[in-house]
Amino acid sequence: MIIDGKAIAAQVRAEVARDVAELKARGQMVGLTVVRVGEDPASAVYVRNKIKACAEVGIVSTEHHPDASISQAELLSLVARLNADPAVHGILVQLPLPKQISEQVVLEAISPQKDADGFHPFNVGCLWTGKPAPRACTPFGVMRLLDEARVELKGKHALVVGRSNIVGKPQACMLLERHATVTIAHSRTPDLAAEVARADVLVAAVGKAEMVKGAWVKPGAVVIDVGMNRNAEGKLVGDVEFAPAAARASAITPVPGGVGPMTIAMLLRNTVDLAKARR
Ligand code: NDP
Repeated sequence: MIIDGKAIAAQVRAEVARDVAELKARGQMVGLTVVRVGEDPASAVYVRNKIKACAEVGIVSTEHHPDASISQAELLSLVARLNADPAVHGILVQLPLPKQISEQVVLEAISPQKDADGFHPFNVGCLWTGKPAPRACTPFGVMRLLDEARVELKGKHALVVGRSNIVGKPQACMLLERHATVTIAHSRTPDLAAEVARADVLVAAVGKAEMVKGAWVKPGAVVIDVGMNRNAEGKLVGDVEFAPAAARASAITPVPGGVGPMTIAMLLRNTVDLAKARR
């Protein structure tokens, strides 16, 4: 089975649009503010897509676009103004930030009650202690894909390759919460092939084109490929060798069209949930 992230993301967006319309009928608009510092070209594309997605579901989005020379103090004061603005339900500061600014300091300055990305340490703590809070969008989207594909996680061996704060670690927590036995592999894992061969559910979030070989995949495993990489020919590929992995897997996500569309959909979900929590 090819897990169709585009279709599932469209379903999430339709659910969000219904919730936004319901809130609007009760007199509440939902607002997301995006802060994009400087002229990183990839950030410009991501932010444009997020703003377009907001418009499609009826979320009011605003963009602040300070110059790359902004000081950390100035950026913190912008975040403080947004924290205090009742029309703003979600705040997202697009990473990366220029060198003079500590990303961690800025992310920690966002009110946890407006943390649309789910990156604030308070919300990360909520995730690890089982409390409701906004969740990191990409792993949250992966869980939705697994649910839509009716993948039973209880008692299964799940392997997450990658341990970043935005994907690998929260992903491992979400799988653990659903009673999988979870292993996290990273760049110092000595025998990745052996770890992959044991996994009933594999989530690859490495950032290296096709580094997880299809032949390593356990027959019947579920493979979720978070990676988005350009190969030597400039083609967008995942972290997993798709064709040989698909031949062994019971279900797999393609790249593009798998996890990618889910990330923005879950950002919209987080934003509307923050607005509902405020009510
Ligand atoms: P990071 O670079 O932050 O983390 C990569 C992780 O992979 C690190 O934990 C690193 O280990 C590990 N790693 C690197 N080399 C190896 C190796 N040889 N064997 C095992 N593990 C290894 O990346 P992100 O988590 O931000 O992103 C991962 C991928 O997911 C990227 O391709 C990115 O583009 C994509 N992505 C896609 C999104 C989407 O919406 N579809 C959203 C976010 C990311 P160590 O910690 O030891 O260095």
